[in-house]
Amino acid sequence: MIDASNQKFDLAIIGAGMAGMAAAVFAAKRGLTTVIMGSLAESWFTGGLIDLMGVHPVESGKSWQDPWAAIDAVVRDIFGHPYAHIPSEDIKAALQEFYALLNDGGRPYRFEDERNSNLITAFGAIKTTHGIPQTMWPGVQALSSKAPCLIADFKGLKGFSADLLVERLKTEWPGLKALSVPSIYGDQVHEINPVPLARDLEIAQYRQKLAELIKAHVKDVEYVGLPAVLGIHRPDQVIDELGELLGKPVFEIPAMPPSIPGMRLKEAFLRFLPANNVHCLFQKQVLKATPTSEGEITLDTGRTEHENSIKAYAVLLSTGRFLGGGLHSDHTTVTEPIFDLPVFQPENRELWHCDRLFEPSGHAINLAGLETDDMLRPLGTGGQPAFENLFAAGIILAHQDWTRMKCGSGLSVATAYGAVKSFSSLRP
Ligand SMILES: Cc1cc2nc3c(=O)[nH]c(=O)nc-3n(C[C@H](O)[C@H](O)[C@H](O)COP(=O)(O)OP(=O)(O)OC[C@H]3O[C@@H](n4cnc5c(N)ncnc54)[C@H](O)[C@@H]3O)c2cc1C
Repeated sequence: MIDASNQKFDLAIIGAGMAGMAAAVFAAKRGLTTVIMGSLAESWFTGGLIDLMGVHPVESGKSWQDPWAAIDAVVRDIFGHPYAHIPSEDIKAALQEFYALLNDGGRPYRFEDERNSNLITAFGAIKTTHGIPQTMWPGVQALSSKAPCLIADFKGLKGFSADLLVERLKTEWPGLKALSVPSIYGDQVHEINPVPLARDLEIAQYRQKLAELIKAHVKDVEYVGLPAVLGIHRPDQVIDELGELLGKPVFEIPAMPPSIPGMRLKEAFLRFLPANNVHCLFQKQVLKATPTSEGEITLDTGRTEHENSIKAYAVLLSTGRFLGGGLHSDHTTVTEPIFDLPVFQPENRELWHCDRLFEPSGHAINLAGLETDDMLRPLGTGGQPAFENLFAAGIILAHQDWTRMKCGSGLSVATAYGAVKSFSSLRP
């Protein structure tokens, strides 16, 4: 392994969530020497869907089937929205490259170029999204035709109830019926963890047991939907084999964290990055950044205390918001801890949240983040880029409420692409 402290990188990426990982892929494909740092824990939260743009305006909850029309509307209506900095053709190119990587990495995604697709979630909601793991795709077709469908859960697996899901959707989709599958382990199990369950379903004996438990209930249905726990390393094979045993197409339904589709994505990235010379320091945090007199940036890294320093010509900040650690807050203000960049935020603490938790328009704090120029360089106090060679991507960017707008991973991938492209264009 190379000692990163003795090497000067073209690009140092801080953050290993969706934005950082996508940026590392784009950078490696462009021949940039790249290092990526950050915790991999966020992939456990990633539902596995690639939301591009689904809802606008959030206060009306208007759902869009055409994500490109939605992006145009958002760019027109919301000053400074991150999509305003990326031409549509670049967003399309970003998605194309990203989906191709996943396909090559054995994690095929399905999508329609020009429109969003709908699928059901563990909460019994219908979600509009863009990129969908192939393992979930038959569910899109089943929902679209409202075909008779069995939804099965695993007794003991928390956060996914077939009864609840069917109850919530029965008016819209009368052909749904629910089944709770007893233990595939043969004995009484009170609680099942999704990770070992997903691993076990890669073993033929458990798959056969599962099929036996479901088989008697599938006579009058066309599809079978199960929570997204059908294998970690080779889910497509698990699903095909289950489908053959049941004689019906099987699909996965996004479930609660820890997210198995998120783990599968992580696996695809981890296969690609080291093999393409990206230096991965996933256990390290960046504690401090210092510009050098030569115009580069030195990053002090370590677990909790300074262990090494890394030098790079440019840095991409993709540290997320509060959950990821990219933004900090105290009782009065929101700060960006590594570069101390100005953070767009409500004028005072009282304006962070509305009185009602589920206020349809969302809370002002959910729009907090970094403002950038069109090259995705964070702005300093004077409104100019804080550094010539500092870029930002992902949900740390201001003026977007990704949960309500349904633009989480799509925005991360698109801004990662935009930032890497900007840096490449500046490189001597
Ligand atoms: C429960 C849940 C479900 C989701 N489901 C979906 C979905 O179905 N569809 C969708 O499109 N999106 C979904 N998302 C959103 C999506 O997964 C990503 O969270 C989003 O794209 C943001 O990614 P990000 O890389 O900008 O930030 P994050 O994912 O927050 O990643 C931030 C990264 O920065 C690192 N970091 C922070 N500070 C430092 C530091 N000082 N040094 C080094 N590293 C640092 C963190 O360790 C982390 O690796 C979901 C998110 C959650 C939480």
